[in-house]
Amino acid sequence: MYVKVMLVIITDLDGTLLDPRSYSYDEARPALELIREFDIPLVLCTSKTRTEVEYWRARLENRHPFIVENGGGLYIPRDYFPCEIHAPVDRDDYAVFEFGDPYPELVETLRAASSESGCEVIGFHQLSAAEISVRYDMTITEARLAKQREFDEPFEILGSACGPLLAAIERRGKRWLKGGRLYHIVGVNDKAHCVNLLTHFYRRLFNDVATVGIGDGPNDLGFLNAVDFPILVQSPATGRLKTVIKGARLTNAEGPEGWNQAVLSVVNGAEQAAGPRRLLCLARGREQIPEHHRAPLIAKGRK
Ligand SMILES: [Mg+2]
Repeated sequence: MYVKVMLVIITDLDGTLLDPRSYSYDEARPALELIREFDIPLVLCTSKTRTEVEYWRARLENRHPFIVENGGGLYIPRDYFPCEIHAPVDRDDYAVFEFGDPYPELVETLRAASSESGCEVIGFHQLSAAEISVRYDMTITEARLAKQREFDEPFEILGSACGPLLAAIERRGKRWLKGGRLYHIVGVNDKAHCVNLLTHFYRRLFNDVATVGIGDGPNDLGFLNAVDFPILVQSPATGRLKTVIKGARLTNAEGPEGWNQAVLSVVNGAEQAAGPRRLLCLARGREQIPEHHRAPLIAKGRK
């Protein structure tokens, strides 16, 4: 008996699919070709903004839903799922689920926490696109896109003792996350909230969905614990992360080289796995949606 499996791959960008320094994904091209061949959904799940993700989706020729600003928002392209999705927000061509707190509120909280703790910080709101470009090795275009923020303020701690600052952020009901190079202040949102909601949509439509999560940093911890197959791409943080993510596999290589190895292994493994199990791609899956699941999907975000 065949058990058809639909794989959904959910991936962080910086330090995972993208090289942590050059932002290149050249070494991941073989795996990207393979998942395109199988039409496997590749969901970008990142601290980047909506406009930055749209830039990378265009470069990657990606048409799938995406998660921005550390779980602040889940964007699902209109007509992506073969039934209507009723989201709290309709924006442009997306159904949008907003989990994050408004950006101005986060900036004000960071300023107050820095003042109270005496710990000096520098946030993206204090920098021009040109300054961000130089400081964080981005092109000027990427820096402009990175400044268009909705739910998350990246910041750098200039002093050495950051404990009082982080505690002051928490006292104000916000969270802080450590990405590869920067800290982030966010609301109660996490990438995991968006991943859980999106997985729910896939599972409403297809009986057997297996989620693969790929990340490299502490801000990936939540969503890697929410997927079926968590994979850590080698980074300075992964030694500790591996101990707190159940069943996590660790790649030998960093960045896109590690990502490539992991995805080739998972996709080829799923094709050949015992059972026998077969990959079910989204295009084929559409034809097999049970009649009773063709009704609109209704879900609400946190707000
Ligand atoms: Mg990362």
